[in-house]
Amino acid sequence: MRKVAIIGGGIAGIAAALRLSQAEFTPIVLETRAKLGGRATSFVDPRNGKILDNCQHVAMGCCVNLLDFYQQLGVLDRMQWHPQTFWANPPHKPDVMCSGWFPAPAQFTGSFLRMRMISFKDKVGIAFAMFKLMRMGYAGRERWRGRVFLDFLQQTRQSQRAIDRFWEPVVVSACNLSSARVDAPVAMKVFQEGFLSHRFASAMALSVVPLLDLYDPAEAIIAKTGGQVKLGVSVKAIAFDGTRVTGVVTDDGLVQAGAVISAVPFDRLLKLCSPSLREKDERLRNLDQITTSPILGVHLVYATQVLDQPHLVLPARATQWLFNKGVDNAGRQHIHAVISAADAWMDLDESEITRRVREDIDWACPRARALEPMEVRSVKEKRATFAAVPGFEALRPGPRPSAMGGVDNLFLAGDWCDTGWPATMEGAVRSGYAAADAITNNNTLQRELPAALLARVAGLG
Ligand SMILES: Cc1cc2nc3c(=O)[nH]c(=O)nc-3n(C[C@H](O)[C@H](O)[C@H](O)COP(=O)(O)OP(=O)(O)OC[C@H]3O[C@@H](n4cnc5c(N)ncnc54)[C@H](O)[C@@H]3O)c2cc1C
Repeated sequence: MRKVAIIGGGIAGIAAALRLSQAEFTPIVLETRAKLGGRATSFVDPRNGKILDNCQHVAMGCCVNLLDFYQQLGVLDRMQWHPQTFWANPPHKPDVMCSGWFPAPAQFTGSFLRMRMISFKDKVGIAFAMFKLMRMGYAGRERWRGRVFLDFLQQTRQSQRAIDRFWEPVVVSACNLSSARVDAPVAMKVFQEGFLSHRFASAMALSVVPLLDLYDPAEAIIAKTGGQVKLGVSVKAIAFDGTRVTGVVTDDGLVQAGAVISAVPFDRLLKLCSPSLREKDERLRNLDQITTSPILGVHLVYATQVLDQPHLVLPARATQWLFNKGVDNAGRQHIHAVISAADAWMDLDESEITRRVREDIDWACPRARALEPMEVRSVKEKRATFAAVPGFEALRPGPRPSAMGGVDNLFLAGDWCDTGWPATMEGAVRSGYAAADAITNNNTLQRELPAALLARVAGLG
């Protein structure tokens, strides 16, 4: 059992391999692509040879396992923390949301009251909804399971303007679904644990290097205990003898292993399982019912700097975020625009995408109006994340066979597994750590940030 085949070298697969190596197991990571990182990685744009991230990836202070993962890789210093969030409010300067002196859950009170894009009446309404979110506690959100978050917003009488300008940008960015579609507890978790529970929870971290560079150290760490990372190796099937899995089948033949961790998305996993394996393992039965939601990322280069802030939320616009990816020596600025829950964009061609994104950039950044972007590169991720719609949670399998029955040396990982988290890098790391722990019998999952005293008194925890 000490040799473990891991299918997939995304964050979940790497996380599982790190934990196995630390417990002196021998992980063999098989990744079909020529690089690690899966959906959270970079690619070389064939049009100009530039290294681009497939999409901006945002980490937060509440992502304790992801931060641990970066620490294990020795790359925490490649993350830059952004204590402020900028909200576009033309023709005025952007509003700034940041922690003040008050402890959680009141850390944003001062900056929130100063935000000009939300009326005082809407601020009172938002504060009321936040109070309700605290009072219900973590357990209380489970009572909303099966309903959409918009029901909660309507029950707390949020105005359409407050929904469009405040709630929706946060929900769509964090959950990759609109409030009208997302299972309410998933969005509630974002506000409870990402904003209200701890002042560090909402701090935002962005990589200062291409995402791909974050995984550089993985291979050497895994090799220390005799493990391997095999890039460009596609797993064709999970070998199953009717009772147990015996390894994985690749173009080069069988890779034997005492245990297998699948760290590929659910639709990929289904393709690797024989009918007899699916029949035997209950965890694999409902995977074809999981649906996905798309994300669109657009890289633009302007001849001069048009965006002054490190990032900008665009409330009530189709483009939710702009990220300032830097200004080069010639003064050209690279901007990355992100559209989550981008269903309506998937059939558009690049010129129409550019036109629409430019309308939003021109709205938020007046200096861009007179300029034509020099370069544009859009990246469509049609199956970017699972869709956390009502009913989804029941389809998520745990890492271990024992929880739902199944083959006892096949373990499941991936952001879609039962982590309690939306489709995020944190969810992916959690799933990878949990799968490795199920093999090593360790418990290496990091504990959530504890709710601050005042937040606990208010009902959180
Ligand atoms: C556009 C976009 C933006 C996002 N933004 C954010 C964000 O801001 N913050 C955040 O936290 N999360 C974000 N996410 C989500 C995050 O990227 C994912 O949750 C996370 O990367 C999933 O990791 P994973 O290891 O579970 O899966 P994956 O990254 O999908 O990894 C699976 C790996 O398996 C490999 N593979 C597949 N089939 C085979 C096979 N047969 N044999 C061998 N290898 C195989 C794949 O090539 C891939 O490398 C975003 C995702 C997308 C797509």
